Amino acid sequence: MIRWHFLGGADTVTGSKHLLDVDGARTLVDFGMFQGRRAESEALNRAIPVDPRSIDAVVLSHAHIDHCGCLPLLVKGGFTGPIHTTRATAELVEIMLRDSARIQEADAAYLNQKTSRQGLPPVDPLYTAKEAEAVLPLLVPHDYHEEIALPGGVKALQFDAGHVLGSALTRLEIPRAGREPLVLALAFDLGRRGVPLLNDPEPVGPADVLVSETTYGNRLHTPASEARQELGEAISAALARGGKVIIPSFALERTQELVYHLSKLRETGAIPPVPVYIDSPMSVAITRVFERNVGLLDGEAKALHAEKGQVVTPPFIRMIETIEDSKAITSSTEPSITLSASGMCENGRIRHHLKHGIENPANMVLLVGFQAVNTLGRKLQNGEKRVRIFGDEFKVAAEIRTLGAFSAHADKIELYRYAREVRPKVAYLVHGEEKSRKAFSQLLRTQLKVETHCPFRGETADLTDI
Ligand SMILES: [Zn+2]
Repeated sequence: MIRWHFLGGADTVTGSKHLLDVDGARTLVDFGMFQGRRAESEALNRAIPVDPRSIDAVVLSHAHIDHCGCLPLLVKGGFTGPIHTTRATAELVEIMLRDSARIQEADAAYLNQKTSRQGLPPVDPLYTAKEAEAVLPLLVPHDYHEEIALPGGVKALQFDAGHVLGSALTRLEIPRAGREPLVLALAFDLGRRGVPLLNDPEPVGPADVLVSETTYGNRLHTPASEARQELGEAISAALARGGKVIIPSFALERTQELVYHLSKLRETGAIPPVPVYIDSPMSVAITRVFERNVGLLDGEAKALHAEKGQVVTPPFIRMIETIEDSKAITSSTEPSITLSASGMCENGRIRHHLKHGIENPANMVLLVGFQAVNTLGRKLQNGEKRVRIFGDEFKVAAEIRTLGAFSAHADKIELYRYAREVRPKVAYLVHGEEKSRKAFSQLLRTQLKVETHCPFRGETADLTDI
């Protein structure tokens, strides 16, 4: 019996969780956190959909929190097996889970101030820093293309997904008595071609079954090659009127990609040499992981490293770690560029930069990533004129600009090309909202004549007879 259980990240773009069961040998692929509306995602994250003690191993695709963020709950529940992933992902998971635990603890402390006033019992954080630490000894780092032995005789190989540093597309070979092995190709998440720093997604070869993300299954991106120019034009406009540029940026990948673009823009004189700050301890830590893993980056990045001894830490960048230094930047009105997390303005120091900078019409807030509904980032993107930050209301006078060429996910055509290379008999489309999955399903059915399914959370697919 070969069964695939869609435990999360099926009809939603967060909470990625899958279970492969081969005659009772159970391997999880990803164990990510649901994000979005607070109460709803909190309930989903707390309700673990498997008995952690019944799981033999985990294979992890990449370090984004919606793919690895619930691992501490798995370990807390009694899982003691190996968590296989790439070397860079193992380094990044450590930083991501520590930061996530810090946010969980801070959120619970904030709520408990209210509950104690109302005489209600205290809430526990989803997990603590100590519980996040307990995941780390279970991580088993591998190189790309190294054979990973999983329970039930299953073999896994991971290939560069080109999505974020260390991200992997996984190929699974499942033995079958008297038949060829069943081959599965997993694409969550699939990157784009031509983005700086990262290699293009690698082909994984043909497979019987494809399980693919469909975040942008119905959309086309502005070409990645236009990102630098778009960024340069926006920054020049703000600096020319004496303003500051405030960029809410995801700590993993987007921040390093922006630094790479800023280096090129300064070199060619496209933007003036104003101070550039990375003001987020997590972004600083991740930027250092990039410098330690230059061998995994693309040819252009390697050449830059050979010439200058660095890729994403040019001398003009100031890495801000202390609160005092951060405050000095928020109170200054000098033209500057600040990259700070979180990317959707929900947590972290970016909220201080917005609080101090959003009422000045000379300033510009540059949105360079996906902004989920109900986040402060989305409210700004929607053009709301007044927003709440730390409980106070602020008038949005700064210019809010969204740059469309930045995305870490493949678009419709890139997803399609990938599926065409895999040539599956059956494709399961996950990690996408309904419109996106349906449109992509239609495309695969008509163009590739592939049987497609759009499973919902909790559904199971029987792959035994494919
Ligand atoms: Zn991702």
